[in-house]
Amino acid sequence: MMNQHKRKALNAVKVISNQLLTEGVHYIQLEKLHEFQAGQVIALAMHPNDEPRLYSIASGTQRPYLSILFDVKPDGELTPPLSKVQINDTVYISEPFGKFLCKEQPATWIATGTGIAPFISLVESGLAQNIQLLHGARTIDKFYFQDVFQKELGTNYLRFCTTQSGQHIIEGRLTTYLKNSTNLSTNNKYYLCGGPQMVIDVREILISKGVSYDNIIAEIYF
Ligand SMILES: Cc1cc2nc3c(=O)[nH]c(=O)nc-3n(C[C@H](O)[C@H](O)[C@H](O)COP(=O)(O)OP(=O)(O)OC[C@H]3O[C@@H](n4cnc5c(N)ncnc54)[C@H](O)[C@@H]3O)c2cc1C
Repeated sequence: MMNQHKRKALNAVKVISNQLLTEGVHYIQLEKLHEFQAGQVIALAMHPNDEPRLYSIASGTQRPYLSILFDVKPDGELTPPLSKVQINDTVYISEPFGKFLCKEQPATWIATGTGIAPFISLVESGLAQNIQLLHGARTIDKFYFQDVFQKELGTNYLRFCTTQSGQHIIEGRLTTYLKNSTNLSTNNKYYLCGGPQMVIDVREILISKGVSYDNIIAEIYF
């Protein structure tokens, strides 16, 4: 992945907005230079010669902007300065690329934290006809765009919170839910997006439940 995006040309784009969703988590809208497919990523850097980082596109294909959702890594190189950008600042992005298009349905989509980003794009693009979405987060404020998912997916949108309880919130880890599930479809596709540990854990559980390796597709945020 690193070699792949190193070769990609970066183009200057203007920042349209920078919204703080909750502590340390930003939703940034950028000028849209290229068409893309929901589920794709861009490489992004503050300066043209910097080593870019990858971000899932978090907006629908018909929106006039391209957005990303990210959390600030306090010791990270890119996210601290990126979190401070203002309207009309310039950042540098590649053309959209990537194959996490989640085209097969029925499917189960599984995300933790900002791994929800590609699923925001898919839902906003009207591409969530026959899916269930499982989202895990530490606190309720980290269910980004939960109103949109609730509206579009209704009871097929399940939120798992490890430290807080609330209406329509399932307490505990989504991995515990999967472990205890007795009726997981073994024919559906499972699309996973988030950190490496979540992907490893969920994949192991799904395989133990009889889901074949080929039916588990992951976008891993290294
Ligand atoms: C396909 C893909 C899609 C992604 N999409 C998203 C997305 O939509 N949203 C999102 O938030 N993230 C996403 N990521 C992750 C993103 O690309 C960055 O890795 C992340 O934002 C951190 O960037 P950074 O430059 O701030 O941190 P980095 O400088 O890359 O550092 C990352 C972490 O490693 C630590 N670190 C750095 N150097 C060292 C070292 N030498 N030794 C030990 N620790 C070190 C830092 O403290 C920090 O916590 C994606 C990743 C991939 C591969």
